[in-house]
Amino acid sequence: MQDNKIKPRYPTKQIHVGNVAIGGDAPISVQSMTFSKTHNIEETKAQLDRLQLAGADIVRLAVLTEEDAHALKTLKSMTSLPLIADIHFKYKLALIAAESVDCIRINPGNIGSKEKIREVVKACNARNIPIRIGVNGGSLEKEFEQKYGATPQGMVESALYNIKLLEDFGFTSIKVSLKASDAPRTMQAYELLRPLVPYPFHLGVTEAGTLYHSMIKSSIALGNLLMQGIGDTMRCSITGELEEEIKLAKSILRYSGRQKEGITIVSCPTCGRIQADLVSAIKKVEARLAHIKTPLQVSVMGCAVNALGEAKHADIAIAFGNKIGHIIKGGKVLVKMSEDSIVDRFVEEVEILAAERAAET
Ligand code: SF4
Repeated sequence: MQDNKIKPRYPTKQIHVGNVAIGGDAPISVQSMTFSKTHNIEETKAQLDRLQLAGADIVRLAVLTEEDAHALKTLKSMTSLPLIADIHFKYKLALIAAESVDCIRINPGNIGSKEKIREVVKACNARNIPIRIGVNGGSLEKEFEQKYGATPQGMVESALYNIKLLEDFGFTSIKVSLKASDAPRTMQAYELLRPLVPYPFHLGVTEAGTLYHSMIKSSIALGNLLMQGIGDTMRCSITGELEEEIKLAKSILRYSGRQKEGITIVSCPTCGRIQADLVSAIKKVEARLAHIKTPLQVSVMGCAVNALGEAKHADIAIAFGNKIGHIIKGGKVLVKMSEDSIVDRFVEEVEILAAERAAET
């Protein structure tokens, strides 16, 4: 039913950040950002490794000083992840960074003269790397801020202005982000700009807050945009652990129907009929199935009342009872066994099913 609401992806120009294609028919990639001082090689490398392990496709690093910019070369040699240098104002840092990274994030309107923009474009052309224009509702150029305030219209005007500055030099290897700190403005800005330019969009809500708040804002804004066919790469910003950003982004992709990979778990909220510790069971199931990439619908139910009906929609289900549980596969009861060991058996059965499905494709 959900599929009816999912629109085809908006056709966009394809660019490449390292070996990751963005736009066109490329899968929607997931990004994050390190929070170490980039020149602290050891810490930054550790964060890159954490992000890679969590499944990030691309990572952005803040470049504030020449020391940071020069560190990028070493960091690039230590990771297979595509790297983006995040630079504000100082075009010279972009020139250094462009020698080693896979993309530069800089707003050309912030770096001053046309000559400086030309230099950055030249450096990016020399290594065939793209530029991300990152419009942020909280830091619009003065003229747009005064005319429109921090509104979606102001963000769109800023994006068009920055895009034109690059296009004037014949540079079109561009991606664009339009982030506000709330979902409605973020959504509106992307929706307004989408028909006006062919470039791929990097989706995100800026300063989205802690996990709980970011989860809600990012799900509303990014989930909606993705279902409208808008968005080619994304970041869920969270004041918290790096791994959570990747997990959240991947879940939004999955639940908005844009990525089929991995396990989708349906679980009941429990009620007075429950006779088992479903909360502990679901935590164990989630953790132990997190490594599975094969798309599977799994349901975990507190009793048999809804489990059989739910199991018809699930590839494999578990229904608890009074000290016992049923494993239901393909709508039929596969096994009935004691509650104590049923999670272990369930995980085994899901892994077998995932391997069978993977072999079929
Ligand atoms: S599946 Fe059973 S325990 Fe869970 S909410 Fe429904 S009736 Fe209650």
